[in-house]
Amino acid sequence: MTATLIDGKAFAAKVRAQVADYVTKIKAERGEAPGLAVVLVGEDPASQVYVRNKGTQTLEVGMESFEYKLDAATPQEELVALIQKLNADPKVHGILVQLPLPAHLNSDLVINTIDPAKDVDGFHISNVGLLGTGQKSMVPCTPLGCLMMLRDHHGSLAGMNAVVVGRSNIVGKPMAQLLLGDSCTVTIAHSRTKDLAAVCRSADILVAAVGRPEMVLGEWVKPGATVIDVGINRIERDGKTKLVGDVHFESAAEVAGAMTPVPGGVGPMTIACLLANTLTAYCRTKGLPEPKGLTA
Ligand code: NDP
Repeated sequence: MTATLIDGKAFAAKVRAQVADYVTKIKAERGEAPGLAVVLVGEDPASQVYVRNKGTQTLEVGMESFEYKLDAATPQEELVALIQKLNADPKVHGILVQLPLPAHLNSDLVINTIDPAKDVDGFHISNVGLLGTGQKSMVPCTPLGCLMMLRDHHGSLAGMNAVVVGRSNIVGKPMAQLLLGDSCTVTIAHSRTKDLAAVCRSADILVAAVGRPEMVLGEWVKPGATVIDVGINRIERDGKTKLVGDVHFESAAEVAGAMTPVPGGVGPMTIACLLANTLTAYCRTKGLPEPKGLTA
């Protein structure tokens, strides 16, 4: 292996420590703490694990955590009413509705009910528009984590060729906007892209957010490129369940200059950035200086 590993686990711990320091200061000076409300509808096992981890880490950095677990059959009006209540609650500075929602609920409508200033997932249409027009916004957590690691590794990203494989609203598109904001030359690839291998080989920065285990091979990677693997895929290998990314780690690590592993790369950064976003939302609401290096 020649690539330098970008250690997302260690980086996320640093981000959480920075958030915790700021929260300690807020508590000492103002006698209050930022609060994050997480809403889970239904009993999806993966979502339950995510919500539990979010709650634990929120408390660990000294913030207030409010959890709302609703029945899978909750009517839309009830969920909307809960969000409106949280919008008006001065103890709540961040609101996250765990996706995916059960099929009878309109996710767009639900997300767009969240006060954009409390939209710590950055999925509200106002935040999407603000990010797209280069204005201050709440930025989706996973791409924000990727950007932080890239900035930390490279310093300036200006002029680099970036290829983002995947065009989802939660990862691919905001990732591309963030890289453009940092003056990369950005290509967005997807399932209809022709000669994906050649497109990937043009990248100084290659971000894979596809959801296909080990699809991006070493021979698709430009020598010395930085590879960010967003994928989280569970596969069966040698009779065991294993977590792999969208990049074939062994072959890519022979060619890349730096890359994130799975697990321990982008994954841990996502919740760390959720906490960072909650702190940012608090600071903006209160007119306090925003924590350095934790926003786009
Ligand atoms: P989506 O399924 O919403 O989007 C996948 C994208 O990949 C689509 O744009 C799709 O193209 C594209 N794609 C699919 N197949 C191919 C192919 N053969 N060639 C090129 N492009 C392809 O996924 P998400 O963006 O939500 O997630 C992507 C991955 O990231 C998943 O593994 C997910 O688990 C992981 N993830 C990890 C997070 C973390 O915290 N680390 C957070 C969120 C996601 P098209 O639009 O044309 O269909």
